[in-house]
Amino acid sequence: MISRIDLRGDALPEGGALRDLLPRAEFDVEAALETVRPICEDVRHRGSAAVIDWGEKFDGVRLESVRVPAAALARALDELDPAVRAALDESIRRARLVHRAQRRTTHTTQVVPGGTVTEKWVPVDRVGLYVPGGRAVYPSSVVMNVVPAQEAGVPGLAVASPPQREFGGLPHPTILAACALLGVDEVYAAGGAQAVAMFAYGTDDCLPVDLVTGPGNIYVAAAKRLLKGRIGIDAEAGPTEIAILADATADPVHVAADLISQAEHDPMAAAVLVTDSEELAAATEAELVTQVAATKHVEERIEPALAGRQSAIVLVNDLEDGLTVVNAYAAEHLEIQTADAAALADRVRNAGAVFVGPWSPVSLGDYCAGSNHVLPTGGCACHSSGLSVQSFLRGIHIVDYTRDALAEVTHHVVALAEAEDLPAHGAALKARFGWKVPQQ
Ligand code: NAD
Repeated sequence: MISRIDLRGDALPEGGALRDLLPRAEFDVEAALETVRPICEDVRHRGSAAVIDWGEKFDGVRLESVRVPAAALARALDELDPAVRAALDESIRRARLVHRAQRRTTHTTQVVPGGTVTEKWVPVDRVGLYVPGGRAVYPSSVVMNVVPAQEAGVPGLAVASPPQREFGGLPHPTILAACALLGVDEVYAAGGAQAVAMFAYGTDDCLPVDLVTGPGNIYVAAAKRLLKGRIGIDAEAGPTEIAILADATADPVHVAADLISQAEHDPMAAAVLVTDSEELAAATEAELVTQVAATKHVEERIEPALAGRQSAIVLVNDLEDGLTVVNAYAAEHLEIQTADAAALADRVRNAGAVFVGPWSPVSLGDYCAGSNHVLPTGGCACHSSGLSVQSFLRGIHIVDYTRDALAEVTHHVVALAEAEDLPAHGAALKARFGWKVPQQ
């Protein structure tokens, strides 16, 4: 069901060579760019009509209008199962606690007497938040997108999620209810590349946005990469991944359950166990067989995800090598299930989020830990972070110098301008002092 990669014995190779040995899907966003380019161009030229046509092709339902009516949002909230409403309320409450603490404050540095630089944090004006809805529907992703955007103070907020045939072309009712619960009233029934292009270019019924965030499949990731520049994007949050670093103290029942919980998302999802324990590896393999037989979504998602080249049990000499491996892999989600989990977690350098010990499973983080679940995948965790308040802010430097403070530094500016052969830069300062460099 899941393959093994044995890295015991010789010393681990360094850097890229180690990464090449680790399981990762041939997840080719570059190839998907060719698929999404004509979709994006079509939406650019034909607007909503193109969004409707591509929705019919990929989601199997033809819409009258892409914008979700306010009445549908209100109805979805009215009809929401009370247990799901209570769970969403709690998820929102916890996410707000964590994201509110991420707010940035304006900071002024006095560089010299009379010379200050202030860094002011300003939210983008308008964001498009993508909530996936192809194979599974993700009301939790509404929470994870909307809460940080709201806590950042973004004034214009629109959500898009694929139309669902069984709900008359509206996004899934739980997604609509989550939007209503969060006070978001601008929602579009649009999925995939056509949704990202709608946000980027604007259409007759959707104003263009400055930034698109949110997870999605390979086509969503490709459209974000294609349109980056015209719009800002968050990290590429594609098919999900879990890596578990575990030793012989870990419970194979927990380890197998957590691997399956990520495989459940997508046949391209990755589930990786890194362990120094042959016994844990064997017990986890046996548990996978038992637990997979008892769950849902087996043939369409779980089995292909576990059997795919992106998933494996990686055997290492010891936990030091295990740490090297998980740092090289840079997982979206990293669980540490070892005797000294907190100490190892402290030494992790590359991961979207780290889950420490047996009582902090990834499923908790998916919904109710308070942390964000929109996280970088495909190794992007070595250079990018998950979604946060910071994702929606821009820091603007405000430079304010007096005449004396400028005079004092003019000779340095002139020297650097001449070193760069840009004399007009120096002249711009000399012009203020009778075309001379002020005396020091
Ligand atoms: P989705 O909403 O991302 O994609 C559905 C859309 O894909 C459809 O509406 C359609 O427009 C488009 N599409 C489908 N087939 C296409 C094709 N052949 N060509 C062009 N476009 C096509 O929903 P999904 O497919 O369920 O994927 C959701 C993904 O989001 C999963 O991989 C899941 O693991 C991931 N996810 C990631 C995170 C994270 O933070 N990394 C969080 C939640 C979900």
